[in-house]
Amino acid sequence: MMLRKIRNSLLLALLLCLPLVAVAANTELTWYGHAAFKITTPAGKVLLIDPWITNPANKNGKEDLARLDKADLILVTHGHFDHVGNSTEIAKKTGAKLVTTFDLGKAMATYGGYPKEQMGYDTQGNFGGELTLLDGEVKIAFIPAIHSSTIMAPEGSADKDIHDGGNPGGFLITVKNGPAIYHTGDTDVFSDMALIRQFHKVDVMLAAIGGHFTMGPQRAAEAVKLVDPGMVIPMHFGTFPILDGTPNALEKILTDHHSRTKVKTMAIGASIKL
Ligand SMILES: [Zn+2]
Repeated sequence: MMLRKIRNSLLLALLLCLPLVAVAANTELTWYGHAAFKITTPAGKVLLIDPWITNPANKNGKEDLARLDKADLILVTHGHFDHVGNSTEIAKKTGAKLVTTFDLGKAMATYGGYPKEQMGYDTQGNFGGELTLLDGEVKIAFIPAIHSSTIMAPEGSADKDIHDGGNPGGFLITVKNGPAIYHTGDTDVFSDMALIRQFHKVDVMLAAIGGHFTMGPQRAAEAVKLVDPGMVIPMHFGTFPILDGTPNALEKILTDHHSRTKVKTMAIGASIKL
């Protein structure tokens, strides 16, 4: 009798624990090619960064875009077309709020048709600031970048002018019960990257390595040294022939430098657990 009681209470305890085990999910990272990523947090919130889903390197771009029916936040680093990408279309079908500087948000609404009501002081910041969003599920810090930022109306529009898109940047996204992920945006290496880890340890760095418009492998390796992440995932290479920096070149330099950082090269369309 006593034994059965003990067994039953053990079973009950086990059953009560099961939901806790199920909740302890990972953060998932998906790469769509170029600078476009999706982060799914342990609580199931979805963040898109620079969502040019239909970039020429993504063979399944149209299908991937059609499948994207849930997004909570869209983060855009700067105004160039290859980073604003499919933001407006995704925003209209998901209701995702825009995370940008105020200047870029205004430009995206005015020249890109991003719904004005899906941006505001809660999701817009500037360099040095950190926003706590989605009921504390993520913290997003605005990190500077050395680049430019202009915006043009979509192809086919009568407006052919180049408009100001505010200052370019990157983001440090700290996921609750998950990793801290630094998306560099388009940038050169700059020594202030070393300051990032004074405030946050960076687990994963999404680093532009293609060269021509951003740092190439050599300068990206210096950036990795300054940020000192556990893992670097190369991006912004191979989309066009002129973006000819390769993950192998980055890995070779980091190995030669005895870097502790692991290079993880993602396949386009693939997801990894972090
Ligand atoms: Zn750019």
